[in-house]
Amino acid sequence: YAAKRARAGVMRYDAATDPHSSGALELLGQLRAAMDSDQLALHYQPKVSGDGSRLLGFEALVRWNHPVRGVLLPADFLPFVERTHLIHALTRWVLITALRQAATWRAQGLQTSMAVNVSAVSLDAGLLGIVEEALALTRWNPADLVLEITETAIIHDPAGARATVARLRERGVRVAVDDFGAGSTSLVHLRGLAVHELKIDRQFVRDLAAHPEDEVIVSSVIALAHRLGLTVVAEGVETVAAADRLCALGCDELQGFHFARPLPAEEAVAWVRAEGLTGAAVELR
Ligand code: C2E
Ligand code: MG
Ligand code: MG
Ligand code: MG
Repeated sequence: YAAKRARAGVMRYDAATDPHSSGALELLGQLRAAMDSDQLALHYQPKVSGDGSRLLGFEALVRWNHPVRGVLLPADFLPFVERTHLIHALTRWVLITALRQAATWRAQGLQTSMAVNVSAVSLDAGLLGIVEEALALTRWNPADLVLEITETAIIHDPAGARATVARLRERGVRVAVDDFGAGSTSLVHLRGLAVHELKIDRQFVRDLAAHPEDEVIVSSVIALAHRLGLTVVAEGVETVAAADRLCALGCDELQGFHFARPLPAEEAVAWVRAEGLTGAAVELR
């Protein structure tokens, strides 16, 4: 196991060489307790249809309401967590919490899929057990679970990623390549990887309407995705102009501040009601 990790390029945490070690170690020590208390929370950002009229799903994004430091974003603590085995406990916590929420919503009449981010270091055979446990605990339909993995995860260990994705697919779980276009490689690793979705990185999406070059890239990625039989999602949709262009270009799903920021569960439901979204996906009682 350690050898496999080493091959995958995962460094052992070395406090002696880490300039942030005391802060990082302190945070890591607190994370376990945070998972067992109410400090760790998921916010949910909606994904909507190209024309913005239908809710297609939510993406769960982790937040840490730290008693001293205030709200910590993933960038503030994930890099440290990913260097330790705690990342597996966090992946498990996020999956179970997100699917519990989704199952609760389903029972209330809100039918939606749920997307969860998986760190590169968690994309190994152990992930399959965690997914199995979360699906069983929540009686969730695997086809309504999306696991978002980044290109970095695929580059880490292409053969391992391919094997894990293939097994997730056999199990009926959907897999998305997150931040597509932002990694150092893409097409070589995309080939032979049985994913269902591409999420176009937000740097191409943000100023889409004003930058003809971005539009060429985005329309090409949409065409590529569709020819490969994949669903294509745009992240970071911040303006009505970008949303309109993406809709015209045939983008399947849109996500971004223009529609909603990541929201606590109660606010996410309130948003769905207030927007009056229609379609088979939403049957709020
Ligand atoms: P991501 O998966 O690409 O998630 C999208 C990020 O962009 C989120 O940041 C979201 O708040 C932000 N975003 C959404 N719409 C817009 C927009 O219109 N404009 C701009 N400027 N930003 C937008 P966040 O929540 O800080 O998460 C950052 C990254 O941390 C995520 O990127 C994901 O890679 C990782 N992450 C978040 N939650 C988890 C988690 O539970 N587990 C793991 N392993 N990684 C996570
Ligand atoms: Mg994501
Ligand atoms: Mg992304
Ligand atoms: Mg991103």
